[in-house]
Amino acid sequence: MAEWTKKKVLVTVKAYPQVSKKHNETVCTAGICVDTKEWIRMYPVPFRYLEAGKQFKKYDILDVEVSVDGTDGRPESHKIRGDTLEICEHIGSDDNWKHRKQHVLPTLSKSMCEILRQQSDSKKSLGAFKLSRPKDFHWAEVDLSKETDDAVQLTLFDDQKKELEKLPYDFRYKYTCDNEPNCNGHDQKILDWELGEAFRQWRMKYSSDDETLKKLREKWLDFMFSDDKDACLFVGNHHFHRQSFMVLGVFYPKHDGQLSLF
Ligand SMILES: [Zn+2]
Repeated sequence: MAEWTKKKVLVTVKAYPQVSKKHNETVCTAGICVDTKEWIRMYPVPFRYLEAGKQFKKYDILDVEVSVDGTDGRPESHKIRGDTLEICEHIGSDDNWKHRKQHVLPTLSKSMCEILRQQSDSKKSLGAFKLSRPKDFHWAEVDLSKETDDAVQLTLFDDQKKELEKLPYDFRYKYTCDNEPNCNGHDQKILDWELGEAFRQWRMKYSSDDETLKKLREKWLDFMFSDDKDACLFVGNHHFHRQSFMVLGVFYPKHDGQLSLF
C-alpha cells in the first residue's frame, strides 16, 4: 500500500501535454517543496480533465497528497492523488520575482555539468542553474507521419503516449556552462509547455511558420536571456537515459545582484 503524505509544492515546470494510455492526457509537472526546498516530480496529473478551479498554473502553490513512486527510481518522482489537489495561492512576479526567488534560489546547482555529476553521485534528476545567453535556440522539423512511440518516450515519464496535437518542430538550446572550463557544451530539447502553447497561438497570428519561429527565438533567446536578466534553466532527465537532460523551463528575473552569487 502506498503511503501518502501531504506536501505544499510550488509548481515551476509544466511540460507540453502528452497522452498516456493508462492515465488519459497528462501534464508532466515538477516543482519545489515549499518546506524543504527539494525538487519534486509529480504524476500523473490529468490536467485538462481536472475540475474547473483545480487547473493550476506555473508558480501556483499546491497542497497535494503524494507518495514516493517505487517504479521510477528517480528520487524526486512522486505519484499524486489528483482528487486531493488544492491550489493555495499564486506567487506573482512582483518586486522582480522576489517571492519566486525565495524558493528557486536555494535549489540552484552551479551548472549543467554539476547536475550531471550530481546525477552520477546521487541520482539527481531535476534541477536548475544559472546560465548566460545560450549560443543558440534552434529547431528541427518533426516528420509527424514517422513518429513512433519511441519518440514520445523522450518525455519526462515513461508511461505517456502521444495522440494529442504534436508539435511539428523540436526546439532546443545549445550552450556551454558558465564557469566550467571542461564543459563540452550541451544541446538539449525544450519541453516547456509555454513554448508549445506560444507556437500554437502565434502560428494563427503570424503569416508563416518562419515568422512564428523568428518570434519564438526573440522571446526564448533575446528576451529571456537579455543582458539585464539573470536567467536560469530548469532541467529534468530522461527516464531511460538518466544522463540525458531536457530543458523544462526558463526562470528569468531582471539582474539585481542577488543571483551573482551563483
Ligand atoms: Zn556543461
